[in-house]
Amino acid sequence: MPEILEVETARALLEARALDREITQVHAPDPWFLKRGLTPPAVRAALRGQSFTKARRRGKLILVDLSSAGSVPEPPGSVLGLHLGMSGRVLVDDEAAGDPLLYASNKADSAWHRFGVTFADGGSMYLRDPRRLGAVELDPDEERLGPDAFDLTLAQLRTILGRSRAPVKAVIMDQSRVAGLGNLLCDEALWRAGIDPARSAHDLRDDEVKRLHRAIRDTLRILGRRGGSHTGDLTSARGPGLHCPKDGAPLLRRTVGGRTTYSCPVHQR
Ligand SMILES: [Zn+2]
Repeated sequence: MPEILEVETARALLEARALDREITQVHAPDPWFLKRGLTPPAVRAALRGQSFTKARRRGKLILVDLSSAGSVPEPPGSVLGLHLGMSGRVLVDDEAAGDPLLYASNKADSAWHRFGVTFADGGSMYLRDPRRLGAVELDPDEERLGPDAFDLTLAQLRTILGRSRAPVKAVIMDQSRVAGLGNLLCDEALWRAGIDPARSAHDLRDDEVKRLHRAIRDTLRILGRRGGSHTGDLTSARGPGLHCPKDGAPLLRRTVGGRTTYSCPVHQR
């Protein structure tokens, strides 16, 4: 499933390859894939004749600015929001972002092209999504998301954790509080920090909050360099009968925050 690292790869592909190309056709065959009242005619009208000028990201939401953005007054429909969902990929000129072995959606099947555009130069951008859990919207509400995990400061994390008695994992996985961390990255960061995922967020001591903040940064940096959210040390050990890569203890498998969670009963406390 795409987490922030995979979404960042898709954003970078859009930024590198899809900007400043005039959009001549909009492919929106699946009205269900369009969200928040958006219709195929409305998205066609907003995009045709425009170009993408910038590809931004907040958490797992990709924000593509259109050339109409920044005009005064700024017309509605100036920002295209792309959600990759559970299995979505971005393709520019048929090239997918990220590791082609990661997702089943690597199979080239145009029936999975839920949304896309054709450029005047003959190239294209498509969102390919076999499971159809991604989405497209215009002018997404960026403020419904918490601070992006890459930019999360220690002070922000301290405030976010201090406000909740829910399990710490559920809190950092909540996109309205921290945007971008999914199941694998949360398990890896908590494992690196030596913190039990089921502990109440509110009860973490300040030295533990500092350790978790550093672990989130390390997890994003190290796994980003390795190639994605599936490359964590703990993630590689997930599964029945497996052991903590740090101390060899049998891993604990539980449901925390509604998600299957792996942790070490020895060094995560
Ligand atoms: Zn351990």
